[in-house]
Amino acid sequence: MILTPGVEIVIATHNPGKVREVREALYSLPIQLRDLGEFPHVSSVAEIGETYRENALLKAVGYAKQTGVCALADDSGLEVDSLGGMPGVLSARFAGENASDRDRVRKLLTTVALAKSPDRRARFVCCMVLAGWQSKREQLDNAEPQLLKVAEAKCDGEISFEERGTNGFGFDPVFVPRGFRETFGELPAAVKARISHRARALAVVHSFLDHNLAQT
Ligand code: IMP
Repeated sequence: MILTPGVEIVIATHNPGKVREVREALYSLPIQLRDLGEFPHVSSVAEIGETYRENALLKAVGYAKQTGVCALADDSGLEVDSLGGMPGVLSARFAGENASDRDRVRKLLTTVALAKSPDRRARFVCCMVLAGWQSKREQLDNAEPQLLKVAEAKCDGEISFEERGTNGFGFDPVFVPRGFRETFGELPAAVKARISHRARALAVVHSFLDHNLAQT
């Protein structure tokens, strides 16, 4: 037995696109998904790690501590071969701290166009970490949140020559997943929910929760 059915899990991100994808992937489980906005006192956890895993761990543990409930964090990024894997872990800050998705997409298209190699291959990478307490007792005793599950996955593809489509978020309008001609911005959300880096990581989290909630 690990988790009690009805357990509260906060989706540890301020990114509405990620929140939507997490909710859609886990909706059928007997858990209570919370948004960070429901905990107005929490302050942002600094993403000072060097890897997706380190950052996802920092966020999951940091938000679990601050909210007092289990936390599911996502750290993700886009790795472009001709840019030596950049922007990678720094994807969110690629065009500066206060840049918009649009700014990041434009900077990416320009940077890839200026790269020495014409290679447009790229991949999305996602690490999801669930941290919290295995029992209500540990939670009430204010014990430190524990690492419950780590899931890392990727989605291969390439960078398009221009922005296409308005679905999704972030770099979706310029990412063509392998096996398709359309970008994630053009493909139906149901396709992204089946093949994306986040979808694959969430499938692992889903089966972990399904298994451990079922044991109680
Ligand atoms: P972080 O995980 O908060 O550091 O931010 C990840 C960044 O990577 C996002 O702000 C997006 O720019 C990009 N990214 C991650 N996953 C996706 C995705 O599924 N679609 C488009 N962009 C993504």
